[in-house]
Amino acid sequence: MRVLISVDMEGIAGVSGTQDTLYGRPNYDRFRRLMTDETNLAVEAAFAAGADSVVVNDSHDGMRNVMYEVLDDRAELISGFNKPLCMMEGAQEADAVVCIGYHAWAGTAQAALDHTISGGQIHNWWLNDRLVGETQINAALAAHYGAPIVFVSGDDKLAEQVAGSLPGARTAVVKYAIDSMCVRSQPLSVVRRLLREGVEEAVRGHATVPVQRVVGPVTFRMEFKRSSHAEVACLLPMVRRVDGRTVEVTGADALEAWRLAFGAMRLGSTCDMG
Ligand SMILES: [Zn+2]
Repeated sequence: MRVLISVDMEGIAGVSGTQDTLYGRPNYDRFRRLMTDETNLAVEAAFAAGADSVVVNDSHDGMRNVMYEVLDDRAELISGFNKPLCMMEGAQEADAVVCIGYHAWAGTAQAALDHTISGGQIHNWWLNDRLVGETQINAALAAHYGAPIVFVSGDDKLAEQVAGSLPGARTAVVKYAIDSMCVRSQPLSVVRRLLREGVEEAVRGHATVPVQRVVGPVTFRMEFKRSSHAEVACLLPMVRRVDGRTVEVTGADALEAWRLAFGAMRLGSTCDMG
């Protein structure tokens, strides 16, 4: 059994603001260490549950945060960018996916560092008319390759969204959000237990978690922050303009729709250089 662990940073216990998650800021090294510690708990749990191999995909910002030298030495590490599946790179060869340090979708009230894929660019993202966040987009990508997301950790609002969208996936609430930039973190001893026990149970039961393959055609609709993002994204002829800030793309399946959407989003971001 092959396990992919995708690790973001906003949902790590103790992280309370953007400053904590940005390379070069005074507290960044503290929180990348905590991010690596949470990752190690998940790696240990996955092997305890019978995993033959574990791949960790660093999924935050520049995707060079997890400390390789401190990471459990049984796990492989994907770090850096560019990678076609972004946060789900490695799902191509996984039987179960674990998400650590995740966060609620953009615009969620009282949710830690809520955003979707790109905080500076995306206001809302829909999958076939359903408002979604990174967890739901990633679940569709993993499902394309036949793997379910079996476990997600982060704040209480994320857990609510996962409960409403990914039946069978276990969650761990490692902190409670008071505001986007203010959290009440669980005691570290509780965080460690929730992750260690939760991931092990989730991976052990992975075969019982439904793989939610999205039947094609699949449409992603993205409302950008600025009309310029949409304007530039529409240079691609397969991108349709819905309104001033909103575009949509349709693919034969989740993977094709993702490639179109991700490409359009990245193209749209070039307007910020102007
Ligand atoms: Zn992140």
